[in-house]
Amino acid sequence: MLQFRRLLCVVVGALALAAPVFAGKLAIVIDDFGYRPHTENQVLAMPPALSVAVLPNAPHAREMATKAHQAGHEVLIHLPMAPLSKQPLEKDTLRPDMSSDEIERIIREAVNSVPYAVGLNNHMGSAMTSSLFGMQKVMQALERYNLYFLDSMTIGNSQAMRAAAGTGVKVIKRKVFLDDTQNEADIRRQFTRAVELARRNGSAIAIGHPHPSTVRVLQQMLPTLPSDITLVQASSLLNEPQTDTSTPNLTPPGNTPRNPFRGVKLCQPKQPLAPVPTSRFFTVISESFNESALVNYYRHQWQGWK
Ligand SMILES: [Zn+2]
Repeated sequence: MLQFRRLLCVVVGALALAAPVFAGKLAIVIDDFGYRPHTENQVLAMPPALSVAVLPNAPHAREMATKAHQAGHEVLIHLPMAPLSKQPLEKDTLRPDMSSDEIERIIREAVNSVPYAVGLNNHMGSAMTSSLFGMQKVMQALERYNLYFLDSMTIGNSQAMRAAAGTGVKVIKRKVFLDDTQNEADIRRQFTRAVELARRNGSAIAIGHPHPSTVRVLQQMLPTLPSDITLVQASSLLNEPQTDTSTPNLTPPGNTPRNPFRGVKLCQPKQPLAPVPTSRFFTVISESFNESALVNYYRHQWQGWK
């Protein structure tokens, strides 16, 4: 019995020395891939546990997704989704008022343009991700293509997790943006914040962009990552506990919420894009209005009265 106890003490002691008690998993995803191969190649030279998200309509999308996969990085589709603020949009940006078929087509084409993708995250998207109806259509398509959803959290009240309920789609959420500014001291501070959150909560997801300053900070800081923090691919956090802090947003598509600038964080496109002509803007607004559930409701009522 004494022998057994002694053996138990030795085993427990060895385990305590071998594994840090409060290990944290940190996933870093570099967005907006496909426009700047030079800087992106520097990202691909970093540890394969860094994940990358590729814009499907970017000129180097297929090439960078293939290279990333070959270098052992996890690949995500970085799908443009409508923001609340008015700004130039990528081609095929998802809007809440699009039909299920249209959203399915855009996701199918994105899957074809970004080989090896196992997940998808949103580029911009404060308007799209805050629409429950819009995100339910996205989740149906993601389930078909067996993709997980990384919520970039460009708006606090994202409906992604709520929309995925009842589907087989797994949703994880970004905690830190590394490079809201391109100042290296700021990026280092954000990196440290991500490490602290990973340690405190067991895991954290940070998103950065292929800016030269971000690349420099990652090159400096990744080799000196604290020993209790492990860099992991985003998909290895799919089974971590997630909390949904959103409130239901049942606004029908086409009804733009007020005060669109509060709490909005943008994932800026890296190249100037063709501006949307004003006439097209008003056409879209009037189309959305005509399609809105509220308008259809009154149209129905009116027909009933006649
Ligand atoms: Zn982006």
